[in-house]
Amino acid sequence: MLGPPGAGKGTQATLIAENLKIPQISSGDLFRDHQDRDTELGRLARSYMKDGVLVPDKVTITMVMDWIEQNTGVGGFLLDGFPRTIAQAKALDQALADSGGIDLAIYVNVPETELVHRLSGRLVCSKCKTQYHTDFAPPSEPCICDKCITELNQRDDDKPEAIKKRFQVYQEETAPLIDYYQVLGRLREVNGVGSIEKIGERMLKALH
Ligand code: AMP
Repeated sequence: MLGPPGAGKGTQATLIAENLKIPQISSGDLFRDHQDRDTELGRLARSYMKDGVLVPDKVTITMVMDWIEQNTGVGGFLLDGFPRTIAQAKALDQALADSGGIDLAIYVNVPETELVHRLSGRLVCSKCKTQYHTDFAPPSEPCICDKCITELNQRDDDKPEAIKKRFQVYQEETAPLIDYYQVLGRLREVNGVGSIEKIGERMLKALH
């Protein structure tokens, strides 16, 4: 799943993985899990993530390749937010060379004004990680999780300065992957504006 921050990659990745019955992983979630467990990798990643910049390739590639190794032999998998640089894409190609590389890169296209609105209103439960949005999916009680009655927080990297930086990083480092997969004939573009269900239908159509 390829696309700018706030495109809805995570939401759609979960739905597709359920539909296709394959495991999925978000590199951002892997980093956040390391942070919650306060591992060395988590502490390293935090310093990059809070500013909205990418964690260095070497660390990221090793972490995702470990996950892939543990999840092979299950009829496929879905990656959300990885690769995010050409170096990561090449490492992935190399790792999957024996099985012909990835099948498809789905590029979720959403205009920047919509992305800023989505990201700046996003709230996450600090305990169960359920996501809300101040306008699109507000909790019943302001800033309290409906499921586990825990306080909701804004991610550090959803704060205005970090959002600006994440867009810049996306344009410079990740957007070139659109051409990369286009040239390989593996790219499918999906319009990421509309209801979750509608976008989900477009995704599945693109995949099939
Ligand atoms: P995400 O949850 O996908 O928005 O990712 C949050 C942050 O995690 C990003 O802004 C980066 O700092 C870091 N991150 C996630 N995936 C990658 C990746 N593939 N390469 C480098 N940094 C990443």
